[in-house]
Amino acid sequence: MKAEIPEEFKIGATTAHIEYTKHLRSDEGYSGTYNQRTGILQIESHLVGAKRDRTLGHELMEVIKENYSLSISENDMTCIANGWLEFLQQLNIEFDWGGMENARDTNKTES
Ligand SMILES: [Zn+2]
Repeated sequence: MKAEIPEEFKIGATTAHIEYTKHLRSDEGYSGTYNQRTGILQIESHLVGAKRDRTLGHELMEVIKENYSLSISENDMTCIANGWLEFLQQLNIEFDWGGMENARDTNKTES
């Protein structure tokens, strides 16, 4: 079963808007980031497959951490996110990035 990745989602009162960002990895040194102030969750636009899913998984944990004011390490968030992804795989749930890719390609044409 494919589950489409939305452009926006909410955890409690915390909203996250997902954006593909070009050259995030080369410019900033990381493949994903969540800005608590703007609510923008950026994903490196060159990522594909499991790496992209894991990056989103980690950033989702960042949104949860922010919403619930958790004290949790970067590594712990990665482990919890990866564990959840393994579980979703066993349920045959796959992320569908099609909508996000269309939005990315539209932005590319505009810029
Ligand atoms: Zn992090």
